[in-house]
Amino acid sequence: MQETRDQLEDVVQKIESVRDKLAPDMAEEEFVKIIDTIELASRLLSRLFGYGLMRFYADTQDQNAQTYFGQVQQLMAEFENRTLFFMLWWKSLEDEQAKRLKSASGDYQYWLEAVRLEKPYTLSEAEEKVINIKDVNGPKALYNLYESITNRYIFNLEVDGEIKKLTRGELAIYVRNPDHDLRAAAYQELFRVYDQDATILGQIYQYLLRDWHSENLGLRGYASPIAVRNLANDVPDEIIDNLLDVCRKNASLFQRFFRLKARWLGMDQLRRYDIYATVAKTEKTYDYSDAVQMMFESFRQFDPKMVKLAKRVFDEHHLDGEVRKGKQSGAFSLSVEPDLTPWIKQSYQGRLDDLATMAHELGHAIHAMLAEHHNALTHHSSLPLAETASTFCEMLLTDHLLAKDPDPEVQRDLLFRQMDDAYATIMRQAYFAMFERSAHEKVHEGASVDDMSQVYIENLQEQFGDSLELTDDFRQEWVAIPHFFDRPFYVYAYAFGQLLVLSLYQQYLEEGESFKPRYLEILAAGGSDSPARILERAGIDIRSADFWQGGFDVLKTSLERLEAIEIIT
Ligand SMILES: [Zn+2]
Repeated sequence: MQETRDQLEDVVQKIESVRDKLAPDMAEEEFVKIIDTIELASRLLSRLFGYGLMRFYADTQDQNAQTYFGQVQQLMAEFENRTLFFMLWWKSLEDEQAKRLKSASGDYQYWLEAVRLEKPYTLSEAEEKVINIKDVNGPKALYNLYESITNRYIFNLEVDGEIKKLTRGELAIYVRNPDHDLRAAAYQELFRVYDQDATILGQIYQYLLRDWHSENLGLRGYASPIAVRNLANDVPDEIIDNLLDVCRKNASLFQRFFRLKARWLGMDQLRRYDIYATVAKTEKTYDYSDAVQMMFESFRQFDPKMVKLAKRVFDEHHLDGEVRKGKQSGAFSLSVEPDLTPWIKQSYQGRLDDLATMAHELGHAIHAMLAEHHNALTHHSSLPLAETASTFCEMLLTDHLLAKDPDPEVQRDLLFRQMDDAYATIMRQAYFAMFERSAHEKVHEGASVDDMSQVYIENLQEQFGDSLELTDDFRQEWVAIPHFFDRPFYVYAYAFGQLLVLSLYQQYLEEGESFKPRYLEILAAGGSDSPARILERAGIDIRSADFWQGGFDVLKTSLERLEAIEIIT
């Protein structure tokens, strides 16, 4: 690894040495050479990072791995600072000048374009510097304070007559518990603890929102608070407005789902505490080798190319599925460089969830491999398209299993899993984004913390209608959602990604064969163009409400299948 580090240092010095050569009228070949160097640096960094991450996550208790990973993170921050001058220079060019250099840059074009998106909202270098410096101890410090306050919370929950002291992550598991009282107790304990600090957390939120408003709308000239995020995602404002409208119109679909779930749980009406409750009594398990075969079978019905790519991951031993002590519990697929087969990490325990996770992560890996002809700067897809293959592969698996196993309990578990997941990823997140829209407006108008809680509970009332019993303890749930504080409007990307895939899946069901090459083309584009243009080239119009509605139609079919299964309680 020292070798890679030395090589990186040489490359970074090479980038630094071009500082004086940068000029609007510089030769195109000179310019492309610089980008080549930046691309090489990013490959080397990615190798160091990938190695560090995998080593650390393989055993989080390994002190050498911890130290090494810390060093890599520092190296990355240093790299960013040392090459910042290039980014600033590139952003500072006039459109005409940038156009000439960009059009000579081949596969780097979209990366260069994306860097310049913020140009109209960029201030002078001196102003940007002041904002950067002030942000560290301003909004960033406020968010750190939020983290410091909430990360020390300990939650007490009585389980089997014994009081357990839990972290938030551990507490969250109990909202799925089959025990009716335990689910309610888990939520009540969550709110009891957060409510003690709700005023102060709410105040932090107000400061953050005022800062967001005065910087982005006041100084930079963005049209609305959400427009800042839309630009970062490179998705036009009207597409997101449209997406959220379609979600709102389909709120009744999940209301219907909650009514059905109540019947499965033997209740007259669901409480808000019960929406994630599991209906499964026993869980079927799958051997690892059977799981791998099932992946291949599910992908084969779509395209043999996908099977070939998935096999590459196994053939090169790039999937670590073992359960080990000290191994980080999450799952991911890591694509280090375009030419390297991605690595997958999960802790396979044989449950249906583990099967779905494997399909999901293989989807990410297939996505990266299909886009491997791009360079290191454009091969990763951007946030709105990041889940296009992962969720699709999960859908392929679900459909394969539904077709293969007629056992009503298996069918029920598969469909409930799909609906629970769709609720949490689509509807909950879309309503979160709508809350944020109102909250940003209200804070600007001088709303108090209580006013915000009122906005929040009204948002929930609209979302659930009379489908469940909503108690007043949920009114301050918003202070417990870190994304609201950390990355305003980030949440809609979850709804966007998932609904996009469902809509694509609906097109696949309608069109069959002719859909396949268009879909594979979307994946092969990686991050080489804007999300809207990549989809447009594949004949998909995300501006149309019908497209998004297609996603809900898939869910409606799943719900109908679920409703047709005879209830066993
Ligand atoms: Zn994913």
